[in-house]
Amino acid sequence: MRGLIRELNMNKMNDIRKLSSQEISDFLLSIHEKSFRKDQIYEWIWKKGVCHFDEMINLSKLLIGKLQENFSLHKIVIKDEVQSNDLTTKFIFELEDAKAIEGVLIPSDHRVTACISSQVGCPLGCQFCATGTMGFVRHLHFSEIIDQYELMNKKSMELYDQPISNIVFMGMGEPLLNYDNVMTAISILTSPKAKALSPSRITLSTVGIVDGIIKLADSNFKAGLAVSLHIPNNNLRSSIMPVNVANPLPKLQEALRYYFKKTGERVTIEYVLLKHINDSLEDADRLLKFCKPFPVKINLIEYNATDSGFEKSPLVQEKNFKAYLEEKNMVVYVRKSRGKDIAAACGQLVKESDKKNLS
Ligand code: SAH
Ligand code: SF4
Repeated sequence: MRGLIRELNMNKMNDIRKLSSQEISDFLLSIHEKSFRKDQIYEWIWKKGVCHFDEMINLSKLLIGKLQENFSLHKIVIKDEVQSNDLTTKFIFELEDAKAIEGVLIPSDHRVTACISSQVGCPLGCQFCATGTMGFVRHLHFSEIIDQYELMNKKSMELYDQPISNIVFMGMGEPLLNYDNVMTAISILTSPKAKALSPSRITLSTVGIVDGIIKLADSNFKAGLAVSLHIPNNNLRSSIMPVNVANPLPKLQEALRYYFKKTGERVTIEYVLLKHINDSLEDADRLLKFCKPFPVKINLIEYNATDSGFEKSPLVQEKNFKAYLEEKNMVVYVRKSRGKDIAAACGQLVKESDKKNLS
């Protein structure tokens, strides 16, 4: 038993939230506890979100003592928060290893959307994205993804008097490159034994990782999928979004066709309008051609200034682009930027030390 515990401690840095259910079962077995205790512990950790073992009041004092002896229960903490004029609030979270990530709460009529991170930094380097300039630091563990939700949900109650209604994986990082942790986090968010949120209120945004989309299609994925297409011209996309070299548009199109065939679900296409880059009517035609094999909803996104040198499309161009797509019977929304004044808008999430207004 001691050997097992020592091994768990060394491998998992002692944090019970980083253990799999099997590892918790093994631990319980090793101390001769009944296996149903695993479900109780799971519920305390993932449904009720307790911070201390002694809050697990349906466990015996003996078992609580054993848990305290062998494990820690670590959560990320809010290091800073800043609110925009439009009431969007950005949070800087500090992780156990002192790395920082960001999350954002975006209130709108009758709902609060939480934008959460899946990695520290991002390895994909899209030129228009501030997170991309950070490079990749590390993947987030699923417990760190859930912590963002739990902490922001409390804040949502305090700030807006309502819980989080929607979650979007649109913070730092590429969720499909951290597939297992993101899927485990989604299963905890949606499990009736844990957070019990409806999968229809969760959206995973990917830059277009073909293998990941196929894996999603073949899994029991029930949340929404958004694809950051942005540039419908293959060569140009490769030069601005390096991920396109290994995941070119024809392959991405084929993966999305497969995704629709398997799930029957419509994907959202995200399209940041960049002046003179992707905002002509020829680009709209390319976009239409790309989306032909499957139904989509198109979100035209206002570009948020970063140091990249791109410019946002003029309003008239945005209107023409939208009208043109609508003439062809596409479902199109324009997403105006939120939280620009606090650098909380899409593509502006960079590490805290890079931001004067948060120091
Ligand atoms: N890596 C994933 C999810 C995080 S990015 C993805 O790329 O989809 C969230 C969204 O913000 C993506 O659609 C991304 O393309 C967009 N984005 C990045 N930089 C932006 C900018 N400067 N202005 C507006 N949107 C931006
Ligand atoms: Fe990474 Fe998404 Fe930013 Fe590209 S847009 S660098 S994939 S976070």
